[in-house]
Amino acid sequence: MLYTIPDYYHEFRCVAGKCEDTCCAGWQIVADEAALEKYKNETGVFAEHLKESINWEEGTFKQDKDKRCVFLNRSNLCDMYTALGEESLCRTCKLYPRHIEEFEDVREVTLSVSCPEVARILMNKKEPMHFLSYETDEEEEYGDFDPFLYSKLVDAREVLIDILQDREKKLNLRAALILEIARDVQECIDEEDIFSMDDVFDYYRTEEGIHEVETDFAEADHLTYIRKMFQNQYQMEHLRGDWESYLKKAEKLLYGNANDNLCEKHYMEMLGEFHTWLQKEMPEYEIQYEQLLVYFISTYFCGAVYDGEAFAKAQMAVVSILLIHELLMAQWKMNEKALSIKDVIEIVYRYSRELEHSDSNLNLIQELMSEREY
Ligand code: SF4
Repeated sequence: MLYTIPDYYHEFRCVAGKCEDTCCAGWQIVADEAALEKYKNETGVFAEHLKESINWEEGTFKQDKDKRCVFLNRSNLCDMYTALGEESLCRTCKLYPRHIEEFEDVREVTLSVSCPEVARILMNKKEPMHFLSYETDEEEEYGDFDPFLYSKLVDAREVLIDILQDREKKLNLRAALILEIARDVQECIDEEDIFSMDDVFDYYRTEEGIHEVETDFAEADHLTYIRKMFQNQYQMEHLRGDWESYLKKAEKLLYGNANDNLCEKHYMEMLGEFHTWLQKEMPEYEIQYEQLLVYFISTYFCGAVYDGEAFAKAQMAVVSILLIHELLMAQWKMNEKALSIKDVIEIVYRYSRELEHSDSNLNLIQELMSEREY
């Protein structure tokens, strides 16, 4: 079995009670069968509280009215961990913030940026992200797995990441290039012409391919597109109670009231001023966006081996960074034209929580992206 991890994997340490947020609130924690069996057989002093805190039908830990796990105490520490030790935790709690994508004979392990500590590591990382791998003797065979498509998707992902990390190019060109490549890769998948993917990679290395993307990008109607993507967020399930009101406040600052005619001039002026501010006060912002794009592409792109939706996955990565950028611009306005690294980390982990910790949100964004409008 081949395992891959990002190069910053071992830097992560959970700060538990010192965490500025918690991973034990907002979403439903589902316990695995083995853990549930252990809880059923627990006999010590914690047993009664343990058993009555589990929804046995759903196999989940109960939550209080603020959607906090009932084991999470007011100091943001886990009572189960304190009473029964780390070994008592279910698989979900032991693993988080580790995220595993499973393929035949491959496990790709990443760290989710929905954890503030992971977001902090990634947003402070200056060098391009790379991946480490190691092999074990385990072997497995999937009944229904297309190893050839997977290997071509791995090749495509390498090309996308190489482009994203080419700091000689402007970031918006890099993002536009990976979208075009993913769109053409999608065509190869749809037409069952996987071999032609190599021609796609070669074409976008040429001057002609790059120029074509630059021209298309210059003609795109950015405001209409981003406003629509922003409004899509209201169709999603909201895990934190205050997320929707935060979105509404941000939307009003960015685009005016819901029924206002789009004021493109006002928006473009604000965008220009924000970029000037970023370049002067937070020049590392392009590196931060690059790391996030690589994070989304490395985590999700090869999942297209299961559903064939490579373009939707690339779009999800780019749209996520565009939305984080919009939220940062709104926060900059809320702060009277200032932004700190703390704001960046908070927006990144909050956005990621809402998107990545809800299967229905991940499915919805993929559905919206597979409309192939970009
Ligand atoms: S969100 Fe991250 S740092 Fe905070 S408690 Fe959970 S794992 Fe630890």
